[in-house]
Amino acid sequence: MGKITGFIEFDRVDEKNKAVKERLEDYKEFTVKLPETELQKQGSRCMDCGIPFCHSGCPLGNLIPDFNDLVYRGEWEKALKILHSTNNFPEFTGRLCPAPCEKACVLGLIEDPVSIENIEKNIVEKGFEEGWIVAHPPKERTGKTVAVVGSGPAGLAAAQQLNRAGHLVTVFERDDEVGGLLRYGIPNFKMEKGIIDRRIAILEEEGISFETNAHIGKNYPVEKLEEFDAMVLCGGATKARTLPTKGIDAKGVEQAMDFLTQQTKRIFGSEYEGKEISAKGKDVIVIGGGDTGSDCVGTSNRQGAKSVTNFEIMPKPPLGRSETTPWPFWPLQLKTSSSHEEGCERNWLINTKEFITNDKGELVGLKTVEVQWKIVPGKRPELIERPGTEKTWPCDLALLALGFTGPENTLSDQLGLQLDARTNIKASNYQTNVPHIFTAGDMRRGQSLIVWAINEGREAAREVDIFLMGTSNLPAKGEGDLPGI
Ligand SMILES: Cc1cc2nc3c(=O)[nH]c(=O)nc-3n(C[C@H](O)[C@H](O)[C@H](O)COP(=O)(O)OP(=O)(O)OC[C@H]3O[C@@H](n4cnc5c(N)ncnc54)[C@H](O)[C@@H]3O)c2cc1C
Ligand code: SF4
Repeated sequence: MGKITGFIEFDRVDEKNKAVKERLEDYKEFTVKLPETELQKQGSRCMDCGIPFCHSGCPLGNLIPDFNDLVYRGEWEKALKILHSTNNFPEFTGRLCPAPCEKACVLGLIEDPVSIENIEKNIVEKGFEEGWIVAHPPKERTGKTVAVVGSGPAGLAAAQQLNRAGHLVTVFERDDEVGGLLRYGIPNFKMEKGIIDRRIAILEEEGISFETNAHIGKNYPVEKLEEFDAMVLCGGATKARTLPTKGIDAKGVEQAMDFLTQQTKRIFGSEYEGKEISAKGKDVIVIGGGDTGSDCVGTSNRQGAKSVTNFEIMPKPPLGRSETTPWPFWPLQLKTSSSHEEGCERNWLINTKEFITNDKGELVGLKTVEVQWKIVPGKRPELIERPGTEKTWPCDLALLALGFTGPENTLSDQLGLQLDARTNIKASNYQTNVPHIFTAGDMRRGQSLIVWAINEGREAAREVDIFLMGTSNLPAKGEGDLPGI
């Protein structure tokens, strides 16, 4: 702990965002970096607690007090080594993680917590600026080969760890570009796609091969993967939920992921399948109040929507921590994203009864009703409509952001893999019922977070290494490895 009184002397200072009007003009990231001296002060707010609860808050077990202290001292390169020792891609988590570490920060009990996520982002960005982040190919190869299916954060983390262990790794991706949801789910304004490309260039230099447009089980037979000594399936949980509501097939009712993917492809001039989906000049209603819904709100406003409204069927969460989620747990609490701030009317406890169409089958409105939840201990919560609250909303684009029901079945069907009760691929220590096939990330745990996907990719890689070699030098969670970075 470099500065004993840091947390008393300095308040938390966060990055500012560009003004709404300015940031809505394009799809670029819009945060304004803090000066280095301010970041050092922010690092000094860390109390280096005897029991750092932030460690257990972070699914990767990032060594947070250690890098905070090094940032305070201006030893950025050492801070980068510590950060990389537990996290392959801090540039993703430093931008996109909901930062459960900060919710578990001990300083957060009495003050604003340490701005851990922003410090993390600045450490890795300085690393790229200074040229400290370079390829480290393994010194020796084992002669073993591994196929990784899916190039989201889980697949990329698994690939880098397995390559470090000396195995020859090929990553197969059905999309035209690698990155998974980092590429085609999360909008460019939350993370510019060059951030993925510069990391992929390093992974390629380290010896990892990438094959895009390779849809395993569709245009690329699964049998060909049997040439590899092991497989790691990281295909995500991309089966989108829909509604059993009248009019759901109307022209103008679209899945959020189709809308978001198309916009990112449009920015980069890539081809996309299907009809054009645009919010320009439209009354847009986004159904679903989570991260995906928020991304649809931000994208609709950038496309020039006439109005943007958001529906959520659950009650409005409290402004502060609820009693049911005390520190250091992840709090049930209202989240207002930068996209919400850009313009959006938010409604809670509302259910869509009908998508109203004109005689051409085009969406013209939504009929809704207000609801409440009846909670009886030991029973499933029951949704009850409030009589007399039916309302019709003008709407010519409805975006379904209702979450995901699990992984697609192509791989599990063709490889004979068992599923768990939630229809995710079943695994014990990341190993499926077929011994040389492993699985990680959303495909194993259901739709989750980037930080969990990276953690699962790392842990699955260790299990694969043990399977192939009988033992592994890859680190377990939170142990950290320092492969000379
Ligand atoms: C719109 C949206 C916004 C989100 N925002 C955030 C956020 O801000 N912060 C956060 O932490 N999390 C966020 N998430 C969740 C996060 O993106 C995921 O939890 C994470 O990407 C999961 O990583 P993964 O590697 O398991 O799978 P994915 O990222 O889904 O990657 C799976 C990859 O496998 C490929 N694939 C699937 N099947 C095959 C096959 N048969 N052959 C070849 N390739 C295949 C897919 O094309 C895809 O590229 C968001 C999710 C969505 C949908
Ligand atoms: S990865 Fe997420 S939880 Fe872990 S230290 Fe970074 S922001 Fe916090």
